[in-house]
Amino acid sequence: MAVLDTAVPGGKPRRTEREAFPEFVDAVIIGAGIAGMYQLHQLRRLGMSVRVFETGSDVGGTWYWNRYPGARFDSESWTYGYSFSEEVLEEWNWSEHFSAQPETLRYLNFVADKFDLRRDISFNSRVAAAHYQDDWGGWNITLDDGRCQKATFLITAIGPLSAHTLPRIDGIDDFQGTAFHTARWPHHPVDLSNKRVGVIGTGATGIQTIQTIAKSVGHLSVFQRTANWAAPLHNTPISAAEMAEIKANYPAIFARCRETPGCFIHMNDPRATFEVSEAERLAFYEELYNTPGFGIWQGNFRDMSTDPEANAAVSAFIADKIRQRVKDPVLAEKLIPKDHGFGTRRVPLETGYFEVYNQTNVRLVDLKATPIERITATGLRTSDEDHDLDVLIYATGFDALTGGFDRIDIRGRNGLSLKEKWADGPRTFLGLQTVDFPNMLTIVGPHNAAARCNIPRCIEQNVEWVSALMGYMRTHGHAHIEATQSAEDEWTESINELAAHMLYTHVDSWMTGVNRNVEGKDIRRVLQYQGGAPAYREHCAQSAAAGYAGFELR
Ligand code: NAP
Repeated sequence: MAVLDTAVPGGKPRRTEREAFPEFVDAVIIGAGIAGMYQLHQLRRLGMSVRVFETGSDVGGTWYWNRYPGARFDSESWTYGYSFSEEVLEEWNWSEHFSAQPETLRYLNFVADKFDLRRDISFNSRVAAAHYQDDWGGWNITLDDGRCQKATFLITAIGPLSAHTLPRIDGIDDFQGTAFHTARWPHHPVDLSNKRVGVIGTGATGIQTIQTIAKSVGHLSVFQRTANWAAPLHNTPISAAEMAEIKANYPAIFARCRETPGCFIHMNDPRATFEVSEAERLAFYEELYNTPGFGIWQGNFRDMSTDPEANAAVSAFIADKIRQRVKDPVLAEKLIPKDHGFGTRRVPLETGYFEVYNQTNVRLVDLKATPIERITATGLRTSDEDHDLDVLIYATGFDALTGGFDRIDIRGRNGLSLKEKWADGPRTFLGLQTVDFPNMLTIVGPHNAAARCNIPRCIEQNVEWVSALMGYMRTHGHAHIEATQSAEDEWTESINELAAHMLYTHVDSWMTGVNRNVEGKDIRRVLQYQGGAPAYREHCAQSAAAGYAGFELR
């Protein structure tokens, strides 16, 4: 039986699948997630004609697709929502400090309703190809059902983590039980009670899934290849009084997010790790470990992500926490990463994750010791054992940042394929444009600060910058924008330099573009701007202030 792919699940398509749309629009946006929705709203305000194509049957992007049990924010809810609309800020109430997926999806539906966004969105519409047309200077966009659309501008809002990947394991279609990837979790309730469930993958998704289902399943087998660092989320409900206070403080909250490198409310401590005494250092780690959210990662000593000894110190602290929480010392050691330091991969935040392994119905299968040999009709075979399963959950991640682009046949000038151009790593200017692909703008594209950010904060900046550009081009009678070769070369070079001193560049993860489930993605690449969001915004603003320096406008 094939792994279920609920690409067009039984949601509520708002429009018919083969609806007609005008032959030509000013802009096509790919994706109706947080970025695509806001970009549509902004371009409409400029009076542009816009069509959004969305594979899913409704809005929401990441929060539409990722419905697995336990999916929720790792960012504080009240830092995550859109900031552009006073009305939205006033009317929406978050119920938890770290909202769960159903609430976030409700929020995005609320925004879509409020601004009547759906009338320009074609759902159930997967873009298969986008080809630049040299003769008239715009884009021909083709959907996988053959429908076509022409547009002057192509704006990609496809998300950094949208191309989910199944593992390359023999026999994946042989399994006779139920199997799905977490990013294609069915829209209908899945009853796991009393079932023998296997989860492959222990990244942020696997950890949220495991800690949530462990109590209700009959038996849970966790197939862990690489142990991951994780720290407590400390989620709590938001009372009415607290929500009123948050609303009153929104300007200060968003101002704070604008100051920090990742646009979270957490700011690195200005001290270096060994500037303080050991007692002070441990007390600070303890405080961070007990603070809700990403403080332990984003608010730690300033050298945690660059100095190996500083990193080893915080890693030792977290390792001890794992030892305290997992009763079986042998198991605890298996759950402690030995091949990378804390924070050199994106840190999952957890709620009782490590305690799950104290339950008698949960078993950790260490794939480093006993690798998976194949999937069988009845479960999964490792090198020493057959594991019988009713349900197999693939929490195996994404082909990050460039994967979403690779899945569309994007061709620029003279038929140049984007996939080929970026085969050895992306080349961009500002992570928003790439040479030979005129009039294509990439929201949250590779090399963009948004790719390492409390994402809606950076999305708003990207979208507003693109919208201002569109307005400028209209005012000046331009219909063509393309980065110059020198701007692209300099930006790409600076991206590599900024990342060079970061410890994460020495570690395999989606952040370094490594995904061995995808042909050609086994080499580390620099995909993210590491200079911090404030510096990135400054680069974008400087280019705009100089009449879009680094771009050729015609
Ligand atoms: P991920 O971090 O890439 O984790 C994928 C997991 O699958 C890893 O444990 C990986 O093992 C394992 N895996 C992949 N192929 C395998 C194979 N062939 N055999 C065995 N194991 C295999 O993906 P993710 O957990 O979906 O998270 C991706 C990102 O999404 C996160 O880092 C985060 O940025 C975002 N996310 C955010 C939230 C949130 O905001 N709350 C929640 C979930 C995800 P290896 O490590 O050995 O490769």
